Amino acid sequence: MHEVGIAQSILEIVEKEVKKNGASKVNKVKLIVGEFTGVVKEALEFALDIIKKNSLAENAEFLIETVNLKTFCQNCDKTFVGKEEAHFLCPDCNGILGIVEGKELKIDFIDVE
Ligand SMILES: [Zn+2]
Repeated sequence: MHEVGIAQSILEIVEKEVKKNGASKVNKVKLIVGEFTGVVKEALEFALDIIKKNSLAENAEFLIETVNLKTFCQNCDKTFVGKEEAHFLCPDCNGILGIVEGKELKIDFIDVE
C-alpha cells in the first residue's frame, strides 16, 4: 500500500513546518490529491490516522481534497475532465492529450498553533 509511504512523507513535512514555526501542535492539514496519482483517499486517511499517533500532528485533522483528471488537446484547444479520456487521446482528433490537472499530490496548508 503506497499510501503509507505518502502518509509518512506528509507527516515529515508537517513536523518540519511545526518546528520551523516554533509551534507545539497541528490543528489542521489540507491535502490536494489528484485523481491520476492513483492514491485512494480512504487508504490515505487510514494511513495518516495510524502514522500521526505519537507525532506532533497526533490531534490534527487531515482534510483531503481530490482533484479530477483534466486533460487538454492543443489541436482542438479543448479541455476534458474525467476518466473517460484516461487513454490520453483526444476523442475529437485522436491527438495526444496533455495533463493539466490530476497529477498533483501536495499540502495546501498546515494550520499550527
Ligand atoms: Zn483534439
